[in-house]
Formats: sequence, C-alpha cells, structure tokens
Amino acid sequence: MTYFDDLSQYSYLPEEEEDILNVGWLDKDHAFPRGVTSDEFIERLAWLSIYSSVKQTPGIHGCMLCPVAAFGFHIISHEGKSHILGSAEIRVKGNRATYAAPDLLIHYVLTHEYLPPEDFVSGVIMTGMRLHKDRWSLSRGLYWEALNQ
Ligand SMILES: [Zn+2]
Repeated sequence: MTYFDDLSQYSYLPEEEEDILNVGWLDKDHAFPRGVTSDEFIERLAWLSIYSSVKQTPGIHGCMLCPVAAFGFHIISHEGKSHILGSAEIRVKGNRATYAAPDLLIHYVLTHEYLPPEDFVSGVIMTGMRLHKDRWSLSRGLYWEALNQ
C-alpha cells in the first residue's frame, strides 16, 4: 500500500470523479492521529467494507503497521460472506468532500486506533447500513480459508 497524507488529492488509481481526498493511507513511517471512534461509526464502516467496496484489484496489501511476523491476510466476515481486506477501497461522501480510503481502514481503526478526519467520520455515519458488532468479525487467515468460508 502506498502512503498518502490525509486530505491530500486522491491519485492512486484512475478515477472518474474529480476532487476526491485521501483518508487512511497509513504506513509505519508516518505518524497518524489516534483516538476513540463510536460504535455507530465502526458498525457502518463494517457494512461499507463488506458490501460497498470499489476499485477491486488482483493484488492484496497487508497492513504495514502490524508486526512483520504477523501471518495471513485480514478478513472481514458477515453471515457467511468473507472479504479479504487490502485489495479494494471505499468511498465516503462527507459534507466537504468525497473521500477515498483503503478497505483496510476498519482494521486500522480497530487495531491501531487510527482516528480519521471528522468529516469522513460523519460521512460514514450518514451513509450505508449498520451491522451490529456481534454480527461480523475481523480475523486473520490464508487466502483460501477466506474463500472457503
Ligand atoms: Zn495492522
């Protein structure tokens, strides 16, 4: 995954829409804001990550913040559907802009306490469905394990 500053202009993949801003393109060499987010934000972000991702690419990026020795891909699962994180993006419309974030964002928030910009957070809360946290899970596993779930 490539690093981009939060709220910089999106340029990672060709894009039809103009004026899309980056959120959550983290790596271990750049500090990022940390903080607590609400259940509502997390539960709506989960829905976006599973059911509303865009720009699916064949390659899968791992999290560069996790220890190097950590094994397997990050997988989000909901009612028999599993999605490997790290090869797609989500789009969120805020009040001030539209944002492009890697689908690993939910892992960054839950595991690394990343705190996205406020307008992105309120955009997530305004869009999408809410998946109660008891109904989905994040796990780590191998590629074929995710496919067989
Ligand atoms: Zn990580």
